[in-house]
Amino acid sequence: MNIYYNEYEKGTNLLFKFDVFFDSLSFFMADIAVDVNNLRRTFGEFVAVDNINLQVKKGEIFGFLGPNGSGKSTTIRMLCGLLMPTSGGGTVGGFDVLKQPDAIKQRIGYMSQKFSLYNELTVEENLNFFAGIYGVPKQKRKERKEWALEMAELQDRRRSITATLAGGVKQRLALGCAILHEPPIIFLDEPTSGVDPISRRNFWSLIYGLSRQGTTIFITTHYMDEADYCDRLALIYRGKLIAEGTPGELKHSHMRHSILEIETDQLVPTLTLLNQQNIEAAIFGSALHATVDHAEQRIPELRELIAKRGISVTRIEQIVPSLEDVFVSLIEVA
Ligand code: ADP
Ligand code: MG
Repeated sequence: MNIYYNEYEKGTNLLFKFDVFFDSLSFFMADIAVDVNNLRRTFGEFVAVDNINLQVKKGEIFGFLGPNGSGKSTTIRMLCGLLMPTSGGGTVGGFDVLKQPDAIKQRIGYMSQKFSLYNELTVEENLNFFAGIYGVPKQKRKERKEWALEMAELQDRRRSITATLAGGVKQRLALGCAILHEPPIIFLDEPTSGVDPISRRNFWSLIYGLSRQGTTIFITTHYMDEADYCDRLALIYRGKLIAEGTPGELKHSHMRHSILEIETDQLVPTLTLLNQQNIEAAIFGSALHATVDHAEQRIPELRELIAKRGISVTRIEQIVPSLEDVFVSLIEVA
Protein backbone atom coordinates (compact mmCIF):
# COMPACT_ATOMS: atom_id res chain seq x y z
CA MET A 1 0.00 0.00 0.00
CA ASN A 2 2.87 2.33 0.73
CA ILE A 3 4.31 1.78 -2.71
CA TYR A 4 0.98 2.73 -4.26
CA TYR A 5 0.80 5.89 -2.25
CA ASN A 6 4.33 6.99 -3.19
CA GLU A 7 3.79 6.31 -6.87
CA TYR A 8 0.53 8.24 -6.69
CA GLU A 9 2.33 11.24 -5.26
CA LYS A 10 4.86 11.12 -8.03
CA GLY A 11 1.99 11.17 -10.51
CA THR A 12 3.17 8.22 -12.56
CA ASN A 13 1.11 6.12 -14.95
CA LEU A 14 -2.38 5.30 -13.60
CA LEU A 15 -2.39 1.68 -14.78
CA PHE A 16 0.81 0.98 -12.93
CA LYS A 17 -0.73 2.36 -9.78
CA PHE A 18 -3.73 0.05 -10.10
CA ASP A 19 -1.44 -2.90 -10.69
CA VAL A 20 0.49 -2.22 -7.53
CA PHE A 21 -2.74 -1.65 -5.64
CA PHE A 22 -4.27 -4.97 -6.70
CA ASP A 23 -0.98 -6.77 -6.18
CA SER A 24 -0.78 -5.58 -2.61
CA LEU A 25 -4.47 -6.42 -2.07
CA SER A 26 -4.05 -9.98 -3.29
CA PHE A 27 -0.81 -10.23 -1.36
CA PHE A 28 -2.76 -9.25 1.75
CA MET A 29 -5.44 -11.90 1.11
CA ALA A 30 -2.78 -14.50 0.31
CA ASP A 31 -1.23 -13.73 3.67
CA ILE A 32 -4.17 -15.31 5.52
CA ALA A 33 -3.98 -19.06 6.17
CA VAL A 34 -7.16 -19.51 8.20
CA ASP A 35 -10.17 -17.21 8.03
CA VAL A 36 -13.14 -17.96 10.31
CA ASN A 37 -16.46 -16.15 9.94
CA ASN A 38 -19.27 -16.41 12.49
CA LEU A 39 -18.53 -20.09 12.99
CA ARG A 40 -21.16 -21.77 15.11
CA ARG A 41 -21.93 -25.35 16.09
CA THR A 42 -24.72 -26.63 18.28
CA PHE A 43 -25.41 -30.13 19.61
CA GLY A 44 -29.17 -30.14 20.18
CA GLU A 45 -29.88 -27.12 22.38
CA PHE A 46 -26.26 -26.84 23.46
CA VAL A 47 -24.08 -24.21 21.78
CA ALA A 48 -20.54 -25.65 21.68
CA VAL A 49 -19.04 -22.94 19.42
CA ASP A 50 -20.75 -19.58 19.43
CA ASN A 51 -20.17 -17.29 16.41
CA ILE A 52 -16.41 -17.29 16.34
CA ASN A 53 -14.42 -14.92 14.11
CA LEU A 54 -10.68 -15.12 13.72
CA GLN A 55 -7.83 -14.95 11.24
CA VAL A 56 -4.49 -16.72 11.27
CA LYS A 57 -1.63 -15.38 9.17
CA LYS A 58 0.63 -17.63 7.13
CA GLY A 59 3.61 -18.92 9.08
CA GLU A 60 2.14 -17.90 12.40
CA ILE A 61 1.95 -20.03 15.55
CA PHE A 62 -1.62 -19.38 16.60
CA GLY A 63 -2.59 -20.57 20.07
CA PHE A 64 -6.21 -21.41 20.80
CA LEU A 65 -6.55 -21.45 24.55
CA GLY A 66 -9.38 -22.43 26.80
CA PRO A 67 -10.37 -24.73 29.64
CA ASN A 68 -11.75 -28.22 28.99
CA GLY A 69 -15.14 -28.20 27.30
CA SER A 70 -14.80 -24.64 25.95
CA GLY A 71 -15.15 -25.64 22.28
CA LYS A 72 -11.54 -25.94 21.05
CA SER A 73 -11.78 -29.42 19.49
CA THR A 74 -15.19 -28.71 17.97
CA THR A 75 -13.74 -25.60 16.26
CA ILE A 76 -10.70 -27.49 14.96
CA ARG A 77 -12.83 -30.36 13.65
CA MET A 78 -14.98 -27.91 11.68
CA LEU A 79 -11.90 -26.20 10.23
CA CYS A 80 -10.40 -29.55 9.22
CA GLY A 81 -13.54 -30.50 7.31
CA LEU A 82 -14.45 -33.26 9.79
CA LEU A 83 -17.59 -31.70 11.26
CA MET A 84 -20.17 -29.49 9.56
CA PRO A 85 -20.80 -26.08 11.12
CA THR A 86 -24.40 -25.31 12.11
CA SER A 87 -23.90 -21.85 10.61
CA GLY A 88 -21.10 -19.54 9.52
CA GLY A 89 -17.98 -20.83 7.83
CA GLY A 90 -14.50 -19.93 6.76
CA THR A 91 -11.54 -20.80 4.60
CA VAL A 92 -8.43 -22.86 5.28
CA GLY A 93 -5.55 -22.37 2.85
CA GLY A 94 -8.02 -20.50 0.64
CA PHE A 95 -10.49 -23.43 0.48
CA ASP A 96 -14.03 -23.18 1.74
CA VAL A 97 -14.83 -25.15 4.89
CA LEU A 98 -18.42 -25.83 3.77
CA LYS A 99 -17.88 -26.50 0.07
CA GLN A 100 -14.35 -27.91 -0.19
CA PRO A 101 -13.69 -30.06 2.90
CA ASP A 102 -11.85 -32.70 0.84
CA ALA A 103 -9.44 -30.14 -0.66
CA ILE A 104 -8.75 -28.93 2.87
CA LYS A 105 -8.11 -32.45 4.20
CA GLN A 106 -5.41 -33.00 1.56
CA ARG A 107 -3.61 -29.79 2.40
CA ILE A 108 -3.53 -29.80 6.18
CA GLY A 109 -1.95 -31.86 8.91
CA TYR A 110 -4.25 -32.74 11.78
CA MET A 111 -3.14 -34.21 15.06
CA SER A 112 -6.21 -35.08 17.09
CA GLN A 113 -6.30 -35.03 20.85
CA LYS A 114 -5.91 -38.80 21.00
CA PHE A 115 -3.00 -38.84 18.51
CA SER A 116 -4.87 -41.46 16.38
CA LEU A 117 -1.86 -43.77 16.02
CA TYR A 118 -2.35 -47.51 15.64
CA ASN A 119 -0.92 -48.88 18.86
CA GLU A 120 -0.63 -52.47 17.67
CA LEU A 121 1.42 -51.48 14.61
CA THR A 122 5.16 -50.74 14.62
CA VAL A 123 6.50 -47.22 14.25
CA GLU A 124 7.34 -47.85 10.61
CA GLU A 125 3.96 -49.44 9.86
CA ASN A 126 2.21 -46.35 11.25
CA LEU A 127 4.34 -44.13 8.99
CA ASN A 128 3.55 -46.34 5.98
CA PHE A 129 -0.13 -46.25 6.80
CA PHE A 130 -0.30 -42.45 7.06
CA ALA A 131 1.91 -41.97 3.98
CA GLY A 132 -0.75 -43.99 2.12
CA ILE A 133 -3.69 -42.10 3.60
CA TYR A 134 -2.14 -38.73 2.74
CA GLY A 135 -1.16 -39.85 -0.74
CA VAL A 136 2.57 -39.18 -0.39
CA PRO A 137 3.97 -40.01 -3.87
CA LYS A 138 5.73 -43.42 -3.98
CA GLN A 139 9.12 -41.95 -4.95
CA LYS A 140 9.02 -39.56 -1.97
CA ARG A 141 7.85 -42.03 0.68
CA LYS A 142 11.23 -43.31 1.77
CA GLU A 143 12.68 -39.82 2.11
CA ARG A 144 9.67 -38.52 4.07
CA LYS A 145 9.65 -41.55 6.36
CA GLU A 146 13.33 -41.09 7.18
CA TRP A 147 12.70 -37.40 7.79
CA ALA A 148 9.88 -38.21 10.24
CA LEU A 149 11.97 -40.88 12.01
CA GLU A 150 14.81 -38.42 12.43
CA MET A 151 12.56 -35.62 13.63
CA ALA A 152 10.92 -37.92 16.16
CA GLU A 153 14.32 -39.39 17.11
CA LEU A 154 12.99 -42.85 16.35
CA GLN A 155 15.57 -44.15 13.86
CA ASP A 156 16.56 -46.96 16.21
CA ARG A 157 13.00 -47.89 17.12
CA ARG A 158 11.38 -48.21 13.73
CA ARG A 159 10.43 -51.83 14.45
CA SER A 160 9.09 -51.17 17.97
CA ILE A 161 5.41 -51.68 18.62
CA THR A 162 3.87 -48.21 19.04
CA ALA A 163 2.11 -49.21 22.27
CA THR A 164 5.50 -49.64 23.96
CA LEU A 165 6.61 -46.03 23.33
CA ALA A 166 6.58 -43.40 26.09
CA GLY A 167 3.98 -40.59 25.84
CA GLY A 168 6.41 -37.93 24.64
CA VAL A 169 7.84 -40.22 21.96
CA LYS A 170 4.38 -41.24 20.73
CA GLN A 171 3.50 -37.57 20.50
CA ARG A 172 6.50 -36.89 18.23
CA LEU A 173 5.61 -39.90 16.09
CA ALA A 174 2.02 -38.65 15.80
CA LEU A 175 3.32 -35.26 14.66
CA GLY A 176 5.58 -36.98 12.12
CA CYS A 177 2.64 -39.01 10.75
CA ALA A 178 0.45 -35.90 10.53
CA ILE A 179 2.96 -33.96 8.43
CA LEU A 180 4.42 -36.65 6.14
CA HIS A 181 2.75 -34.93 3.18
CA GLU A 182 4.37 -31.56 4.06
CA PRO A 183 1.14 -29.65 4.60
CA PRO A 184 1.41 -25.85 4.74
CA ILE A 185 -1.06 -25.66 7.65
CA ILE A 186 -1.06 -27.89 10.73
CA PHE A 187 -3.81 -28.23 13.32
CA LEU A 188 -2.64 -29.64 16.64
CA ASP A 189 -5.31 -30.39 19.22
CA GLU A 190 -3.79 -30.39 22.70
CA PRO A 191 -0.69 -32.21 21.46
CA THR A 192 1.08 -31.77 24.78
CA SER A 193 -1.69 -32.80 27.12
CA GLY A 194 -0.62 -35.51 29.56
CA VAL A 195 3.02 -35.35 28.44
CA ASP A 196 5.94 -34.66 30.81
CA PRO A 197 7.43 -31.11 30.93
CA ILE A 198 10.70 -32.02 29.16
CA SER A 199 8.86 -33.70 26.27
CA ARG A 200 6.53 -30.70 26.12
CA ARG A 201 9.51 -28.38 25.70
CA ASN A 202 11.07 -30.59 23.04
CA PHE A 203 7.78 -30.73 21.22
CA TRP A 204 7.59 -26.94 21.18
CA SER A 205 11.04 -26.71 19.64
CA LEU A 206 9.83 -28.98 16.82
CA ILE A 207 6.87 -26.64 16.34
CA TYR A 208 9.21 -23.65 16.22
CA GLY A 209 11.33 -25.36 13.58
CA LEU A 210 8.27 -25.99 11.39
CA SER A 211 7.06 -22.45 11.81
CA ARG A 212 10.45 -21.04 10.81
CA GLN A 213 10.15 -22.98 7.56
CA GLY A 214 6.88 -21.17 6.86
CA THR A 215 4.33 -23.70 8.13
CA THR A 216 1.25 -22.23 9.78
CA ILE A 217 0.49 -23.78 13.17
CA PHE A 218 -2.96 -23.74 14.79
CA ILE A 219 -2.51 -25.27 18.22
CA THR A 220 -4.85 -25.71 21.16
CA THR A 221 -3.80 -26.07 24.74
CA HIS A 222 -5.20 -25.70 28.21
CA TYR A 223 -1.72 -25.13 29.63
CA MET A 224 -1.49 -21.38 30.10
CA ASP A 225 2.31 -21.48 30.34
CA GLU A 226 2.46 -22.66 26.72
CA ALA A 227 0.68 -19.55 25.53
CA ASP A 228 3.89 -17.56 25.67
CA TYR A 229 5.34 -19.76 22.89
CA CYS A 230 2.67 -18.55 20.44
CA ASP A 231 2.86 -15.52 18.12
CA ARG A 232 -0.81 -14.77 18.66
CA LEU A 233 -3.57 -16.14 20.86
CA ALA A 234 -7.32 -16.39 21.05
CA LEU A 235 -8.97 -17.23 24.35
CA ILE A 236 -12.18 -19.24 24.17
CA TYR A 237 -14.60 -19.73 27.04
CA ARG A 238 -17.96 -21.54 26.86
CA GLY A 239 -17.83 -21.43 23.06
CA LYS A 240 -17.20 -17.67 22.83
CA LEU A 241 -13.99 -15.87 21.94
CA ILE A 242 -13.28 -13.63 24.89
CA ALA A 243 -9.93 -12.11 23.84
CA GLU A 244 -7.37 -12.09 21.07
CA GLY A 245 -3.88 -10.70 20.64
CA THR A 246 -0.20 -11.36 21.19
CA PRO A 247 0.71 -12.80 24.59
CA GLY A 248 2.12 -9.39 25.59
CA GLU A 249 -0.97 -7.47 24.44
CA LEU A 250 -3.28 -9.76 26.37
CA LYS A 251 -1.25 -9.43 29.52
CA HIS A 252 -1.10 -5.65 29.36
CA SER A 253 -4.44 -4.56 27.98
CA HIS A 254 -6.89 -7.11 29.33
CA MET A 255 -6.02 -7.07 32.99
CA ARG A 256 -8.59 -5.15 34.95
CA HIS A 257 -6.49 -5.33 38.10
CA SER A 258 -2.83 -5.27 38.98
CA ILE A 259 -0.97 -8.11 40.62
CA LEU A 260 1.36 -7.39 43.51
CA GLU A 261 4.03 -9.82 44.57
CA ILE A 262 4.57 -9.60 48.32
CA GLU A 263 7.40 -11.21 50.25
CA THR A 264 7.45 -11.16 54.06
CA ASP A 265 9.04 -13.14 56.88
CA GLN A 266 5.60 -14.56 57.85
CA LEU A 267 3.72 -15.58 54.74
CA VAL A 268 0.60 -17.20 56.21
CA PRO A 269 -0.17 -14.43 58.74
CA THR A 270 0.29 -11.93 55.87
CA LEU A 271 -2.18 -13.90 53.77
CA THR A 272 -4.71 -13.93 56.62
CA LEU A 273 -4.26 -10.19 57.09
CA LEU A 274 -4.83 -9.47 53.38
CA ASN A 275 -7.92 -11.67 53.30
CA GLN A 276 -9.30 -9.83 56.34
CA GLN A 277 -8.99 -6.66 54.25
CA ASN A 278 -10.98 -8.35 51.45
CA ILE A 279 -7.91 -8.47 49.22
CA GLU A 280 -7.74 -11.51 46.98
CA ALA A 281 -4.38 -13.19 47.58
CA ALA A 282 -2.72 -16.56 47.19
CA ILE A 283 0.66 -18.11 47.93
CA PHE A 284 2.98 -18.45 44.91
CA GLY A 285 6.21 -20.20 45.93
CA SER A 286 7.88 -18.10 48.60
CA ALA A 287 5.69 -15.03 47.99
CA LEU A 288 2.07 -13.91 47.86
CA HIS A 289 0.22 -12.64 44.81
CA ALA A 290 -2.42 -10.07 45.67
CA THR A 291 -4.92 -8.65 43.20
CA VAL A 292 -5.53 -4.92 43.70
CA ASP A 293 -6.75 -1.80 41.94
CA HIS A 294 -4.50 1.27 41.85
CA ALA A 295 -1.21 -0.47 42.56
CA GLU A 296 0.89 2.66 43.13
CA GLN A 297 -1.40 3.86 45.88
CA ARG A 298 -1.86 0.42 47.44
CA ILE A 299 1.82 -0.48 47.76
CA PRO A 300 2.68 2.04 50.54
CA GLU A 301 -0.67 1.38 52.27
CA LEU A 302 -0.06 -2.36 52.37
CA ARG A 303 3.54 -1.93 53.43
CA GLU A 304 2.35 0.07 56.44
CA LEU A 305 -0.55 -2.26 57.25
CA ILE A 306 1.68 -5.35 57.27
CA ALA A 307 4.48 -3.65 59.21
CA LYS A 308 1.98 -2.58 61.90
CA ARG A 309 1.37 -6.27 62.66
CA GLY A 310 5.05 -6.73 63.37
CA ILE A 311 5.63 -8.60 60.12
CA SER A 312 8.75 -7.58 58.23
CA VAL A 313 8.19 -6.85 54.55
CA THR A 314 11.04 -7.94 52.28
CA ARG A 315 9.50 -6.79 49.02
CA ILE A 316 6.28 -5.51 47.48
CA GLU A 317 6.17 -4.90 43.76
CA GLN A 318 3.79 -4.93 40.86
CA ILE A 319 4.43 -7.85 38.52
CA VAL A 320 3.40 -8.66 34.95
CA PRO A 321 0.36 -10.90 35.28
CA SER A 322 0.52 -14.43 33.94
CA LEU A 323 -1.91 -15.43 31.20
CA GLU A 324 -3.70 -17.44 33.82
CA ASP A 325 -4.33 -14.19 35.73
CA VAL A 326 -5.62 -12.63 32.48
CA PHE A 327 -7.93 -15.54 31.85
CA VAL A 328 -9.39 -15.46 35.35
CA SER A 329 -9.90 -11.71 35.07
CA LEU A 330 -11.64 -12.06 31.67
CA ILE A 331 -14.03 -14.85 32.62
CA GLU A 332 -15.20 -12.79 35.58
CA VAL A 333 -16.79 -10.39 33.08
CA ALA A 334 -17.73 -12.98 30.38
P1 ADP B 1 -12.59 -28.66 24.31
O1 ADP B 1 -11.87 -29.25 23.15
O2 ADP B 1 -12.33 -27.19 24.47
O3 ADP B 1 -12.33 -29.39 25.57
P2 ADP B 1 -14.96 -29.57 22.91
O4 ADP B 1 -14.96 -28.80 21.67
O5 ADP B 1 -14.48 -30.97 22.86
O6 ADP B 1 -14.17 -28.76 24.04
O7 ADP B 1 -16.41 -29.60 23.51
C1 ADP B 1 -17.16 -28.41 23.74
C2 ADP B 1 -18.49 -28.80 24.33
O8 ADP B 1 -19.28 -29.45 23.34
C3 ADP B 1 -18.39 -29.77 25.50
O9 ADP B 1 -19.34 -29.39 26.47
C4 ADP B 1 -18.72 -31.09 24.89
O10 ADP B 1 -19.34 -31.94 25.84
C5 ADP B 1 -19.70 -30.71 23.79
N1 ADP B 1 -19.64 -31.66 22.67
C6 ADP B 1 -18.57 -31.88 21.88
N2 ADP B 1 -18.86 -32.80 20.92
C7 ADP B 1 -20.15 -33.18 21.14
C8 ADP B 1 -21.04 -34.10 20.50
N3 ADP B 1 -20.66 -34.81 19.43
N4 ADP B 1 -22.29 -34.21 20.99
C9 ADP B 1 -22.68 -33.48 22.06
N5 ADP B 1 -21.91 -32.59 22.70
C10 ADP B 1 -20.66 -32.44 22.26
MG1 MG C 1 -10.55 -30.79 23.12
